[in-house]
Amino acid sequence: MKNLAVVPPLAIARGERAWLVDEAGNRYVDAISSWWVNLFGHANPRINAAIIDQLSKIEHVILAGCTHEPVVALSERLSKLTGLGHAFYGSDGASATEIALKMSFHYWRNAGQTGKTQFVSLQNGYHGETLGALSITDVALFKDQYAPLLRQSTQMPSPDFRLAEAGESEEDHALRCARMLESYLQHHSKTIAAFILEPLVQGAAGMAMYHPVYLARARELCTEYQVHLIADEIAVGFGRTGTMFACEQAGVKPDFMCLSKGITGGYLPLSCVLTTDEIYAAFYADETARGFLHSHSYTGNPLACRAALAVLDIFEQDKVIEANRVRAVRFSALLEPVKRHHRVRHFRNLGMIWACDVAEAKPGFSVRAYQAALKNGVLLRPIGNTVYFMPPYVIGEEEMMQMAAAALSILDEIE
Ligand SMILES: *Cc1c(COP(=O)(O)O)cnc(C)c1O
Repeated sequence: MKNLAVVPPLAIARGERAWLVDEAGNRYVDAISSWWVNLFGHANPRINAAIIDQLSKIEHVILAGCTHEPVVALSERLSKLTGLGHAFYGSDGASATEIALKMSFHYWRNAGQTGKTQFVSLQNGYHGETLGALSITDVALFKDQYAPLLRQSTQMPSPDFRLAEAGESEEDHALRCARMLESYLQHHSKTIAAFILEPLVQGAAGMAMYHPVYLARARELCTEYQVHLIADEIAVGFGRTGTMFACEQAGVKPDFMCLSKGITGGYLPLSCVLTTDEIYAAFYADETARGFLHSHSYTGNPLACRAALAVLDIFEQDKVIEANRVRAVRFSALLEPVKRHHRVRHFRNLGMIWACDVAEAKPGFSVRAYQAALKNGVLLRPIGNTVYFMPPYVIGEEEMMQMAAAALSILDEIE
C-alpha cells in the first residue's frame, strides 16, 4: 500500500490489440499479457462478438441439474485437444488446483487407499494462493506468513536448467532431478496421492525453463509408483510454450490437467480440470459420499465458455501455433543485442516466452525496471532480477521493436 504513493497505479482507460491506453492517452505494449492471461489482444472483435451474442441468450445458469450448449461444446473441444475426456469447471487457477488435489485424494480413498494423503511438488513451483494451493506452492514471499495455516507438503529438486552443476547439460540436470524424484517415490509412494508440476516453465519462479525429459520421466515414475501426475498448465497452456499444451512436447498425458488464465483469452475468469475415464469411473457410484462434492457458484459460466470457444476458433482459423513460430523467430532476432549484453545471464526462450536474468541488479531493481519500461511505452513486470516477455499473440514489428528497446534501456540504465 505504501508503494502506491511512490509508484502510482496506471489508470487504464482502454485497450486495443497488444496496447493499453491510460487516462492521459499514453500507450503501452502489454508485454506480460496482463499477468499471462491475454492471448489475442485487448478488445478483440471476435471474442467481443461471441460474448455479446451469448449475452442475449443466457448470461448464467446453475450447472447442477442444468446444462447449456457452450459448456458442452467447450468440454468436447478441450477433450479432443488433450485426450482427457472429463471436465470439471472452476473460476480461477487456484480453484483448479484445489479441485485436482481434492479429486486425486478422493480417487485413492474411493479405491480403498486411504493412506494416500500427501502431495509432492517442485521447488520454486507456483500453483495459486488459496490455502490448499499455497501448501504445495514453494515461493517464500507468498507462503511464509501463512505457514501455520498450511498443510505440510514435499518439494522435489527443480529441473530448472539454471541450477545445473558445472559441466552438466540441461538434459543431464533434468535426469538427475528425475532420479531424486524416483528415490523419493520409491520410499513414500504409499502415502502420496499426487505429484503436481508446471510443465516446462515454472512461471512465478522467474520463467525457469527445463528439459522435457523431466516431464517424460515424471510421467513414467508416477505410473510406476501409482501416484497421480497433475499438470498445472494454467500459465503454459494455450500455446505459450509453442505447442497448444506444454505436455505435448514430452508426449505426456497427465492424470489431471489444470487450465485457466489464457482459456478465455484473458476476458473472464474460468478454470477447468480435465481428467481421465479412470478417475471419472472411481466416482461413478450409488453412494453420495463417493461422489465429488465440490462446487463453485459460477461453475461453467456461459459467457466465459463462449469466450473460450471463440479463443479455440481463433487458434484454428488463424493457425496460431504456426503463426507464433514465425513471430517467435522474429522477436528472438530482435532480442539478439539483449542476449549478447554483458549483464545478461541465462537468456532463454520457449515458444512465446522470453526471459533473462540481469547481473549487478541492486535491491529494488524490479520496480525501477518496471518504471523505466513504462517510460519506453512497455508494461513489464520483472520478477526479482528476471526480465521477461510473455506478450499476446498479436504482436507485430512495431510492438517487438519497442519491447526490445525497453529491455536494452533497462540493461544500460537500471542498476
Ligand atoms: C496463475 C497461476 C495459478 C493460479 O491462478 P489464479 O487464477 O491466479 O488463481 C496457478 N498455477 C500457475 C502455474 C499459475 O501461473
